[in-house]
Amino acid sequence: MSKKKIIAEYFTEQDKKNICQFADKITPKSWNIFSDHIRTKYMPEVLNIQLLFIDIPLEFEHENLCGYVPILVNQDFVYKDIYPDARFAFRTYGNFLYAETFIKLFPNSLLDIEGTIIHQLAHMAVSRYGMWQQKSWKKGFSRGMRDEDVLHGPLFQRFYKVLLDRTKKVFDEEIVKAQWKHLEFYGKR
Ligand SMILES: [Zn+2]
Repeated sequence: MSKKKIIAEYFTEQDKKNICQFADKITPKSWNIFSDHIRTKYMPEVLNIQLLFIDIPLEFEHENLCGYVPILVNQDFVYKDIYPDARFAFRTYGNFLYAETFIKLFPNSLLDIEGTIIHQLAHMAVSRYGMWQQKSWKKGFSRGMRDEDVLHGPLFQRFYKVLLDRTKKVFDEEIVKAQWKHLEFYGKR
């Protein structure tokens, strides 16, 4: 992925494709990453992550990143009436759980897109972990864990490291060089 020297004002179609592919390569098979809602997978235990490309450059970099909340649903899922794939899946698997969430990306992210993606996916992993820990799907629509992920605490650092190791394995050390320093920084706080 080429680095852009200046802050780009929008994502090109190629950018979007590259970003989805990058995220897909460093995450487990059960994580479905896409930018188009049509590619949502209605299958048990799949985590659907939609990348939302926002074509508005932000002035402050700290606002660049995003929110996301995994949601678990069952066959009462209202969209099943709208999406034939969902209806078909519920007929095939019966009542099952999957998660739907999103990552908002602003063009500023292009300055360090790998870092941005790894960081957000680590937050996602924390939320997912918390969600399973709390068995929060039993309460219906629910939120994942929000304490440590905001603070970049030990759990966040653990998942961040897993993703860095994975990125290093799939690509090379160079691509995650700066991120190891971030990890060190979070560890010291
Ligand atoms: Zn963060």
